[in-house]
Amino acid sequence: MRSIITKNPGETQKFAGELAKKLTKKSASKSALVVALEGELGSGKTTFIKGFSRALGIREKVLSPTFVLIHRHKLNYRSNWSNKSDRTNKSYRLLFHIDAYRLKSKKDLLKLGVKETFSNPENIVLIEWADRVKKAIPKTAIWIHLDHLDKSKRRIIIG
Ligand code: ADP
Ligand code: MG
Repeated sequence: MRSIITKNPGETQKFAGELAKKLTKKSASKSALVVALEGELGSGKTTFIKGFSRALGIREKVLSPTFVLIHRHKLNYRSNWSNKSDRTNKSYRLLFHIDAYRLKSKKDLLKLGVKETFSNPENIVLIEWADRVKKAIPKTAIWIHLDHLDKSKRRIIIG
């Protein structure tokens, strides 16, 4: 288990970006890379996902998907990564950003077609409020816990 305290949103994004690069460098697995986030409203889940996505070259706006439920972003490493050492072993094609805030159970999440999304090794899936649909989250998911310590301090725990 690894934990860090960040003092502003930029630090949270930087930490998320470093994790993104680390995780995507790992050798191929049989299913999607799933990152499950839990933490109260305003704890920094969306901010974390912004940092994670930017580090993988996503330039589109990363918005809170509370009303849309799922945002899908295309990943294009070759054009976005500045140097060879930044490239991943594995070619991810799509990054999904899901917000489970409005979902009541595992069933609600499955209705969105996530089974296929989770099973495709070309996908990266980030889920806010993952604890609300815990039973539907793959066992292989990386869990990120965020705690709101004060106005601008957050504790981020991996694992
Ligand atoms: P969530 O998605 O968990 O509801 P957001 O990322 O949308 O949280 O919001 C976090 C809010 O807290 C933002 O307004 C952000 O600017 C603010 N904030 C202050 N300090 C931090 C920090 N250290 N890390 C992340 N966000 C922070
Ligand atoms: Mg959010």
